[in-house]
Amino acid sequence: MLALVAQPGHAHTTRIEEVPAVQAREGEVLVRTLEVGVCGTDREISEGLFGIPPQGEPVLVLGHEALAVVERTGYGFTRGELVTATVRRSCGHCLACAEDAPDSCLTGDYSERGITRLHGYARELVAEDPAQLVVIPKSLGRLGVLAEPTSICERALRHARAIGGRQPWQLERALVLGAGAVGLLMTYLLRLAGVEVWTASLEPENDLVEHSGATYVSTQDGDLSELGKFDLVVEAAGNAQLMARTLGQLRRNGVACILGIDPRRQTVEIDGRVLGVDLILENRVLFGSVNAQRRDLLAAVADLDRARERRKPGEAGFRVGELIPGESAAFVRLRKVLRRRVPAARALRRPRPASRSRRRPRFVSPRRTRRARRGRT
Ligand SMILES: [Zn+2]
Ligand SMILES: [Zn+2]
Repeated sequence: MLALVAQPGHAHTTRIEEVPAVQAREGEVLVRTLEVGVCGTDREISEGLFGIPPQGEPVLVLGHEALAVVERTGYGFTRGELVTATVRRSCGHCLACAEDAPDSCLTGDYSERGITRLHGYARELVAEDPAQLVVIPKSLGRLGVLAEPTSICERALRHARAIGGRQPWQLERALVLGAGAVGLLMTYLLRLAGVEVWTASLEPENDLVEHSGATYVSTQDGDLSELGKFDLVVEAAGNAQLMARTLGQLRRNGVACILGIDPRRQTVEIDGRVLGVDLILENRVLFGSVNAQRRDLLAAVADLDRARERRKPGEAGFRVGELIPGESAAFVRLRKVLRRRVPAARALRRPRPASRSRRRPRFVSPRRTRRARRGRT
């Protein structure tokens, strides 16, 4: 059986390789992978910066954003049914994992499909625990590959609502920083909830944002502080300086959520009065969110299906379908890769901007553009 593998800790080792055939054991569902999404996490593993292979094995099979089809009927699943799967699995010995919340694992001993201690979905067949599978409705079809990155946004919003909701709070106006997959999906979810959304990124324009009824702002055109203040700010650009500034962009009782990752060693600045006065007197919160759990994946599937239906004139013309062709290089038709019709290196290439604009930012280095588009999913 062929698989897309990498050697964590070693750069440029991503390759297609023959791996042992998978046998579904008692209690497992055999599924065939159709597609896997590729995000910044996969690229970090491929660059040797992240990831842990299963114990005693030299390589890790990639692929944590899965769309698969059930190969054999059983355990509540029917052959031919489309499914996706949770990424993070219980550590087996903490309070959070015991409560089915491995996304809040207290030990860090969890495993993650295609990332940490557990092979991923970028292979022909996977034997899976039925409790980790979620059905993708036929209506959603291929878009089901977006369920996992969407679940990251659902989890973040669930937490933002819990934190904001600890006191009287209304989520009326939100700012999303970054227009990569997570920034766009977050924009869509907030628009589905009827929130006034502003989405900011480096590109000059972004049709996908505008069509959801959100307002797109290019960060080249001015200072974000001119946009006023927000009940919720979500950072999905992966820039620690932007993350620090989110606190200053909040209204009273506002909540800032950080989803991007910025591993650079650096010192960032924050206005002392924002931290020493406004944070306290205006009950503001800054929090980080990672991963998701089963209920977030279920919410993601339901909301993606709702977003797909929102195409009528007069309504926000969500163009969810274009998230995939618009970022075509980011999504791998796994079978093509496995049949070597697409080299593994090309499959992991960074996506082009979702905007169809041909204009390129003039003074932004490729490195900065790359960072800005990344969000950990
Ligand atoms: Zn745990
Ligand atoms: Zn991801």
